[in-house]
Amino acid sequence: MMRKFSGERLLVATHNQGKLEEIAKLLEPFGISVLSVGELGLPEPAETEASFVGNARIKAHAAVQATGLPALADDSGITIDALAGAPGVYTADWAETPDGRDFVMAMTRTWAELESVHAAQPRTAQFRCTLVLAWPDGHDEVFEGVMTGRIIWPMRGDQGHGYDPIFQPDGFDVTFGEMDRWQKNQISHRADAFRKLIEGCFT
Ligand code: IMP
Repeated sequence: MMRKFSGERLLVATHNQGKLEEIAKLLEPFGISVLSVGELGLPEPAETEASFVGNARIKAHAAVQATGLPALADDSGITIDALAGAPGVYTADWAETPDGRDFVMAMTRTWAELESVHAAQPRTAQFRCTLVLAWPDGHDEVFEGVMTGRIIWPMRGDQGHGYDPIFQPDGFDVTFGEMDRWQKNQISHRADAFRKLIEGCFT
């Protein structure tokens, strides 16, 4: 039996203001207001697990433990079949440089690794988003969203972020980087996960 969320305030385990606002909009119709661990000045726990759900759980449970409030956390990234699921939980790490994140570097590495293993076409991949909603008694609910597609080269489009310019979702001939934000938000892995969360815990 899935547990319903019965409170009016939900803590979101993010330091990203954009993400907080997006989640606030999605939950507003259910009479729920949000606050974030960033606003409360709480530290970001180390994401030491090898799975999206493991890392989302770390963030959700750390937020609950620090505040006694129920908390929602997410973890996301891209998995590539010919690379045995890499970069996976290391999606953002592939972009790390001493001067901040460089996603052109991360996408170039992605393509180079696919070339080095002579990966067959199409180079199938999935954007994944895992959400964990955790309560103070230790209970949690997990939701997984996915968007399937393929890795293309060269990069196309400057609309999105991260790996968007090399990801062409199934059923489209444009990349996420060429899609307008509204259209991407309708079909994305994050939209899929949030639909499942709302269906499961908020309706
Ligand atoms: P986070 O869990 O939101 O921090 O996402 C981890 C990493 O996955 C981000 O740094 C992005 O590089 C990548 N990522 C997640 N969702 C998307 C997306 O929709 N487009 C492009 N990159 C994404």
